Amino acid sequence: MRHGYLALAALFIAIMGVYLAYSWLVKGEGIQVKVEGSYYLSYSEEYVKLKVILRGPRRGIRVSLKLFDGSVLLKEKELTVCGVGVLFLKLPPLKRPRLVVAWDDKVETINVRLGGGALVRVEGKHIVLMLRKRNFDLFEDPLGWLRKLDMAYEAYAELVGAVPYNGAKIAIVEVKEYPGGWAVAGNPIKWYSPYIPDAIKQINEGDWLFGILHEISHDFDLDGRWVWNPEFSANFKMVYVVEKLRAKVKVGGLWYDYSDPRGRRLEEYYAIMAAKTGEEKRLRDWLNHNDAATDKFLRVKNLIGWEPFKKTYRAWLNLSWNEVPKTPEGKLNLFVYYLCIFSGKDLTDLFIEWGFPITEETVAKVREALSSGCSSAPK
Ligand SMILES: [Zn+2]
Repeated sequence: MRHGYLALAALFIAIMGVYLAYSWLVKGEGIQVKVEGSYYLSYSEEYVKLKVILRGPRRGIRVSLKLFDGSVLLKEKELTVCGVGVLFLKLPPLKRPRLVVAWDDKVETINVRLGGGALVRVEGKHIVLMLRKRNFDLFEDPLGWLRKLDMAYEAYAELVGAVPYNGAKIAIVEVKEYPGGWAVAGNPIKWYSPYIPDAIKQINEGDWLFGILHEISHDFDLDGRWVWNPEFSANFKMVYVVEKLRAKVKVGGLWYDYSDPRGRRLEEYYAIMAAKTGEEKRLRDWLNHNDAATDKFLRVKNLIGWEPFKKTYRAWLNLSWNEVPKTPEGKLNLFVYYLCIFSGKDLTDLFIEWGFPITEETVAKVREALSSGCSSAPK
């Protein structure tokens, strides 16, 4: 029993010792303050969000927080910190924000300036941009470009008759790790950080930015049901958007300015690309040479207009998944069939001449439908 008391006393002394050492250490360290800031911008709102992280000893410490802009006191807050305390502050953009943290008899002043690494969120109606402040600061008119992307989104929806991701906003996010390309489609669209500064310089010259319009176009391929070549599908749809919105894009170092009635047109670009591979008249690889294929489909578009294409995309949307052709050839044949039906024109000879694998079955189906006067409701 004696030993028991001794052991208990030794334990008590040990605990007291640890406690005293702990409270002395903590007193020495005091409160640690860390501030993380982010910036938000939309068509109607602008603010800075501060996340204030306070780390202190376990016992409660009364802390007073004061936010100044220069010497003007804007906000004051008292709180008790136990361990870690996190506080969010939403402030209008300030010139010289300063946070003063006081506890016991100590005061710490922190100049709150958003660094280049701070996160910026620019939120539109359909599109959200998320990038680092050092890149955001390169924009002359970030909301101007965002408005263009929102309009592009609506034009894509108008072309295909549906929106991706159940209408959720599409985020375009700056990424440090190589996503597998200049930018990669999806939600979010991942935009490789080292390429952003040059792109923003082009945007400042009025460029709507081919690369980002292209990625948004991929997103508008939805579940990919009509896609036999993703790059063809993205680029072809993008031409609609550029044309419809009278946009301006720089491709291969040249401007394609649809706001100028005499400006260069993307048809010229794809014709040059087709010529490069000797495919002006006939494709050597209809499936993989997407630029040469885009050239041919743009010629069809100029022959029949965009309306039959709009109807074609909608017809695809009405298919149940087991009605959707699974092979690239099957998809192409159904696509061309719809184009013929909705334009009221037999385009099959043209596609065959260009080297597209249009089957005899498709040709027969088209002729039958057109001769029976069926031009709006294909089966
Ligand atoms: Zn692509």
